[in-house]
Amino acid sequence: MTHAPSSDEIYRAVRALLDDLPPNMRAEAAALLRQAEDGRKTDNALLRLLRQDAAIYRRLQQLLHPGETLGARGFAPIPGEPEDIPAGQEWKCPHLGCPETRPVIQEGEDPPYCPIHHVPMIRADQKKG
Ligand SMILES: [Zn+2]
Repeated sequence: MTHAPSSDEIYRAVRALLDDLPPNMRAEAAALLRQAEDGRKTDNALLRLLRQDAAIYRRLQQLLHPGETLGARGFAPIPGEPEDIPAGQEWKCPHLGCPETRPVIQEGEDPPYCPIHHVPMIRADQKKG
């Protein structure tokens, strides 16, 4: 089973990254976080926003899934902690040979767009044939 981060976990992770976001992205993320404090559900909007920056998005994923990208394979997960995302849980561009990939953060999230080909990405863990 894949652990899907809760809305609260996403808000907390985005808050932790807020100072490192590019200024335009930071303003928008701060606005979305304020809306979240008002009780609105903005986690998906935040994910979409941060996905525009691949480096930021990877750091977000590290915060949401600690251990997965740090190579800490030797450590047993703390009981009650979220399971790591299995390798292959990522989006890839449907164009052959395109190097663009994005990690999957939440089941059911909208596909990101390939910044090179401007087409929706597909799940890399979809087996073909
Ligand atoms: Zn592409």
